[in-house]
Amino acid sequence: MTQLVKGFLRKEPPIFAKSVPGHIGCSLRDVKEDFADIPAEFKNEEGPALVELSEVEVIRHYTRLSQWNHAIELGSYPLGSCTMKYNPKINEAMARLPGFTRVHPLQDESEMQGSLKLMYLLERSLCALSGFARVTLQPSAGANGEFTGLSVIRKAIADRGEGATRKVILIPDTAHGTNPASVVLNGFEPVGVSTGNAGCLTLEVIKPYLNENLAGIMVTNPNTLGIYEKNLKEIAAAVHEAGGYVYMDGANFNAIMGKVKPAQIGVDTMHFNLHKTFSTPHGGGGPGSGPVGVTKELAKYLPVPVVEKVENSFHLRYSSEDTIGKLHPYYGNFGVLVRAYTYIMELGEEGLFKATEMAVLNARYMRKGLENTLDLMFDSDTLHEVVFSDKTLKKETECTTMNVAKRMLDFGLHPPTVYFPLIVAGAFMIEPTETESRADLDYMIETVKKIVDECHTNPELVHNAPVNTGIGRLDETYAARKKILRYTPENTK
Ligand SMILES: *Cc1c(COP(=O)(O)O)cnc(C)c1O
Repeated sequence: MTQLVKGFLRKEPPIFAKSVPGHIGCSLRDVKEDFADIPAEFKNEEGPALVELSEVEVIRHYTRLSQWNHAIELGSYPLGSCTMKYNPKINEAMARLPGFTRVHPLQDESEMQGSLKLMYLLERSLCALSGFARVTLQPSAGANGEFTGLSVIRKAIADRGEGATRKVILIPDTAHGTNPASVVLNGFEPVGVSTGNAGCLTLEVIKPYLNENLAGIMVTNPNTLGIYEKNLKEIAAAVHEAGGYVYMDGANFNAIMGKVKPAQIGVDTMHFNLHKTFSTPHGGGGPGSGPVGVTKELAKYLPVPVVEKVENSFHLRYSSEDTIGKLHPYYGNFGVLVRAYTYIMELGEEGLFKATEMAVLNARYMRKGLENTLDLMFDSDTLHEVVFSDKTLKKETECTTMNVAKRMLDFGLHPPTVYFPLIVAGAFMIEPTETESRADLDYMIETVKKIVDECHTNPELVHNAPVNTGIGRLDETYAARKKILRYTPENTK
């Protein structure tokens, strides 16, 4: 235990006077008592070995580091699947309004009507865009939303008395790794199904699983190849017929918003990634937000509290017999909700639909621009992202996807997503998003073409890239084998 912590604990800890039903309160007094139980040999009586630096040294250090970093504010960031769109500054201004930041989550409802109203209106907006009856804003990210939606399905199946038998959740081979993980965490069994030659699922591959063991299917739509799952409506009907549920991974909702309402094609539950589709910051681990929409039938299972409007005021309802329980302290990552709501209000319905169209147009422009430079494995039209392969490049030169990606850093571009999805060899996955200008798209296309040329004429240069960045080529094998996961004064020298 450091001196800093001890000094902090010496102060009289604040006690939350009011307990809210459904909330498990924890005061600093409990924490202090917990510390009393820690055996003496585990307590560190010395303070941390911090270096003594002047303000200007610290500022220069961090400013230098920030300049070594690539950010969307410096250049394109076409990291496929991650939707690194620009986050408008007005979102930040709204999230910092004192009326939002100075509210304590345990304050009386009457004193946080503005915050509750924002949550209510954000839920209504997400329902309107997706067709779902209700949306919970609690999940902390997409993966947490997957966990939530599948917990809802699990509870619904258990209520039908089929919990012991309906265990199988089908997942296509293009899925994000979080999908099978969420399935397993919920006690289901993930079963892989393969994507057809057209880059999307077919009813044929689902058919063998349409029986009393099927709990449901988990589909990313459009999938991680950027291809719309055109058979999903038909598949959903068949899954329902067999007694299963349909979960849609909505991480790519930015490709279909305003065009398709998932609830109307038979999706029972879906998560949104506010930090992707609705322009809230992400990267570096959060905080994100992964609201989950459900049909009317499943609404009673949502986590508590839910925000209700009664006449002209807003309330948190904790009472629900069927809820899956509580998912997140209080009401979710509230600051992210403010940013997403600001984005929705700023663009309006028309603006949001335009953003979808621009995201698709930009990705198709990239596809067209590079179709003769890298390989495309599927003919189908793509939406918001495009996945190339390094098949020919690897055959004709000594370079791979990874080499091209690293060399892009020398030109002030963030590399795209590489080696995902797994079904494309040497995948090179570009998602430009709607916020890139035509000039920026042209620069990206010209740069990739130039690098592919270099692969033929000067592969050595590409192998050693990046050469213009603050830190040069890293030894990835060494880094993977000799992990340094903790700070010590020695290992930062
Ligand atoms: C980003 C993403 C996820 C996971 O979302 P997080 O917010 O990172 O937890 C799941 N599926 C797909 C297709 C994604 O792109």
